Amino acid sequence: MAAFPPRSAYLHIPFCHRRCFYCDFAVVPLGDRAAGEAGAPGAASIAAYLELVEREIAASPAGPPLSTVYLGGGTPSLLTPAQVGRLLAALRRRFGLAPAAEISLELDPASFDEGRLAGYLASGVNRVSLGGQSFDDAVLVALGRRHRGADLAEAAGWLERARRRGALISWSLDLIQAVPGQTLAGWRQQLRRAVATGAPHLSVYDLTIEPGTAFARRLERGELELPEPEAASDLMDLTRAELTAAGFGRYEISNYAFPGHASRHNRVYWSGAGWWGFGMGATAAPWGERQARPRTRAAYAAWLGDNLSEGRDGASAPATPAAHQTAGLPLDELLLVGLRRREGVRLPALLTAAGFTPAERQRALAGLRRRLEPWLTEGLLLEEGSRWRLADPAGLALSNGVLRELLDWWDERAAADRRSSGAAPPPP
Ligand code: SF4
Repeated sequence: MAAFPPRSAYLHIPFCHRRCFYCDFAVVPLGDRAAGEAGAPGAASIAAYLELVEREIAASPAGPPLSTVYLGGGTPSLLTPAQVGRLLAALRRRFGLAPAAEISLELDPASFDEGRLAGYLASGVNRVSLGGQSFDDAVLVALGRRHRGADLAEAAGWLERARRRGALISWSLDLIQAVPGQTLAGWRQQLRRAVATGAPHLSVYDLTIEPGTAFARRLERGELELPEPEAASDLMDLTRAELTAAGFGRYEISNYAFPGHASRHNRVYWSGAGWWGFGMGATAAPWGERQARPRTRAAYAAWLGDNLSEGRDGASAPATPAAHQTAGLPLDELLLVGLRRREGVRLPALLTAAGFTPAERQRALAGLRRRLEPWLTEGLLLEEGSRWRLADPAGLALSNGVLRELLDWWDERAAADRRSSGAAPPPP
């Protein structure tokens, strides 16, 4: 199970030019002119926020040197290289950075140029995730994105040049599939353009409609027509076929990489190892339990004030939940994230680590076999010795049904435990 304390950190940079129509992240829209430079719109907001994040980092319990760091958002490329460097310096002071640490930064096309990229690399960044989404201007407009296909092509060129000269260890391009009106022919063209950039890692996500977003409101009004599930599944099949033919390996439902280019930081989330999280809206799981920070700047500032108590050497330190220091993420989360990976999970070992006795483990495995029998029978879910995994591609394409059954199984089991112990149900 997870080794603690963590060796990974996520930093949330919430600033964006504008909110995209599908986005429900913890975001602070600054307007289209924001650039993060002194005097630019948003500069004061960014500087004030970064002070809070640095304070949170300084107040963290200490831990071993970090082997992965991820600056996500939001649009972290609204920070100057100097600001990124300051955040990395804060992490270095508190934890240290391992010599071969993977330091990832999310960048959005049209929010940086080649000079700024060079600055980020000089500050210590060595991996980039580029939020391209599409090369098709009509799709980008429909999604509410600010950049255009030409911006994406230009940014991809800078990144690939940096990789080829050894300044970047890897970079990833994000794409969105199953957008309204997407055809197989059009999507094939998008995939081929993405492959042609040379990106050694591609993340391909289905468009999902989150409550409270502009897209959710349009859907309610009947103004948004999404692809039927079958069409979405065809798009996913096409993605897999095209990227596999281009030499990519699918190491998770949405992630494809050339050998040696899988994201080490993503693997931390999916493996169940813990990680630090800093910034508004960031989720951390340093001691095995997820801890979500408030999603607005004011609430985050108040939370920092409330939660940081005086620690050693004058530094403030959140209380360390000693009872959880050797625990891992909850079993249901480990199952959910593990089954999204191509290699699946070693289920008996997970149950053992979650505290099941041998007899309970056997009963749980038998119950799960019964519950998931339709998927097992059809070969969508595979039990290979102790390893359970979704077949690729058919099982991964239908993963939601399996994952829902697993969650139901876990909820029912937890309810039965509560009944037998006489405990009250959890709050709604
Ligand atoms: S750029 Fe990314 S984080 Fe910002 S609003 Fe758009 S989808 Fe959300």
